[in-house]
Amino acid sequence: MIKTIDLNFQGIKSTVACFLLKINKELALIECGPESCLKNLKSEIKKNGENAENIKHVFLTHIHLDHAGAAWWFAKNGANIYVHPFGKSHLINPEKLIASAKMIYGKSMNELWGSIEGIDENKVIPVNDKEKIKINHIEIKALHTPGHAKHHISWVIGDSVFTGDVAGAKINNGPLVPACPPPDINVEEWEKSLEIIKEENPKFLYFTHFGKFSYKENEIINLQNTLKEWLIWVKKNRDQNETILIEKFKVYIKKSLKSKLVDDQTIEQYCIANPPYMSILGLKRVLIKKNYDKA
Ligand SMILES: [Zn+2]
Repeated sequence: MIKTIDLNFQGIKSTVACFLLKINKELALIECGPESCLKNLKSEIKKNGENAENIKHVFLTHIHLDHAGAAWWFAKNGANIYVHPFGKSHLINPEKLIASAKMIYGKSMNELWGSIEGIDENKVIPVNDKEKIKINHIEIKALHTPGHAKHHISWVIGDSVFTGDVAGAKINNGPLVPACPPPDINVEEWEKSLEIIKEENPKFLYFTHFGKFSYKENEIINLQNTLKEWLIWVKKNRDQNETILIEKFKVYIKKSLKSKLVDDQTIEQYCIANPPYMSILGLKRVLIKKNYDKA
């Protein structure tokens, strides 16, 4: 059984999900959301007739706080936390993660993410590329899929892939929209990771932002194009004052979503799930790192 849980992040529906798996009697989560949503998550698990305390496994696509912020709580209650080897140390000692999040979110930090604690080393299990974790009769395969983050994993179960952020966000049947937050966006790696998803040729994708959809290869191709377009846009506009740049980027994204017939409410949900200002910060960093010539 796979159940999509709406974490009702910031009181907005269909922005951040996690997925409850029941394999025989064993309970697992793919993603666990931020600690600020833990109360919602616990009550949703209850509605499914289960207790959050009984979750034995948490599979993280990556360690960003909207996906993994509450992992420590599950570990404290005995769950194993499966993560990319590059994410392991940050879960055990989250100081660096907290400091860099503070730089971006400032005073909103607590309201957005809630509390963050380090996880006991014995509870953090690094998972290699293509490695399979077996829970009863079910195999859960890791695909290392960097690009959005260098510590990103997509989890494969049968004909479904849980894509975290690598396949972008898809909300209310809108298009795939990437999130490009700092610090380690890598567009070339990201494109390669999307090729890996294509090779897998799944039947369904489960998006953390938000929910289950049939896999369509052309949507992935469109996402690869969107990533390139965004990078070109930021390259063109990079010299403007940051506040103006962020405003202009918001307008650019909203306009492009509108042209794809996305309604206003859905656009708002996309912006909560993937704040445009974050993508500006992340893409500007790509340009600085790559030392792109000024066009
Ligand atoms: Zn995310």
